[in-house]
Amino acid sequence: ANLYHTIPGNSIAKSIRERIKNDIVTLKKSHPNFSPTLRIIQVGDRADSTTYIRMKQKAAENCSMVSKTEHLPADITEQSLLQRIKIINDDPAVDALLIQLPLPSHLNEERITEAIAPNKDVDGLTSANVGQLTKKSGKPNFLPCTPDGIMQLLKTEGVPLKGKLAVVIGRSDIVGVPISTMLRNANATVINCHSSTVNLEKLISMADVVVAACGIPNFVKGEWLKPDSVVIDVGINYIKDSTKKSGLKLVGDVDFESAKEKASLITPVPGGVGPMTVAMLMNNVYTAAKRNMEECNSI
Ligand code: NDP
Repeated sequence: ANLYHTIPGNSIAKSIRERIKNDIVTLKKSHPNFSPTLRIIQVGDRADSTTYIRMKQKAAENCSMVSKTEHLPADITEQSLLQRIKIINDDPAVDALLIQLPLPSHLNEERITEAIAPNKDVDGLTSANVGQLTKKSGKPNFLPCTPDGIMQLLKTEGVPLKGKLAVVIGRSDIVGVPISTMLRNANATVINCHSSTVNLEKLISMADVVVAACGIPNFVKGEWLKPDSVVIDVGINYIKDSTKKSGLKLVGDVDFESAKEKASLITPVPGGVGPMTVAMLMNNVYTAAKRNMEECNSI
């Protein structure tokens, strides 16, 4: 077997969160009113959403930020939800707003996320921020957290991107499309694959960097990979496993056991991209709060 190396997402994320916390604690000494504040809206009570929100809240507290979740009933009307968003948009004490997705099906996710003020949109999902990311010299207020986290992992590991071929599997708003854009902006040549892609395995076999974000457990096989490629596994999939107490096992979109035989660098699941997503969210909230403070001081 070759000498593969797993990318330590947990520890890279931890050091980012510690840096943010130290920065905030320092800033608070000179600016006692500085208090980065995140508001999360949860509509309904999906168990997976509750888990994700708990992770974000805990990370925010550990970074010395204020984070509050507003629980709204699953049958809330779109109009009432939009009103809540407007109130938070207009509240100068709240720096950052995120709406935990997915929403119940009677709510139009597009219209709801679009209602968030772009300067509080720490998930980077409003068309203002997406548009700026996509424009050649655009300046988004915030980068979406998961692709931002992936770029940080690649940077920390010193992975060269210029002129390299990157294959991204998936074209969602939250992962596949923005990571394709960000890799392209970093001068990689990007092939963005999806469910209609023909000869996916052949494309993957040419890739220097593979980003798997298709939501299919263990989808990418080691045999498909180019030797010594870099593999980023975004997937979060729970599969049945009778040896686990919960009866479930968490796996990615990459078949880790076979992929580690071919890749030079690979992210584990769990402990790869997941913790980076939370760390980059913290970074976005911190950025939002600093900008908010600077704006207030300049008035
Ligand atoms: P979506 O379900 O929104 O998108 C999946 C994408 O994969 C679609 O673009 C789809 O194509 C494509 N796809 C599906 N089947 C195939 C196939 N056979 N071949 C090629 N492409 C295919 O997923 P998300 O982007 O939201 O999430 C992807 C995965 O990442 C999930 O496991 C999710 O749980 C995880 N995730 C992890 C995060 C983290 O922090 N680690 C954050 C967000 C997501 P088409 O467009 O044609 O339907």
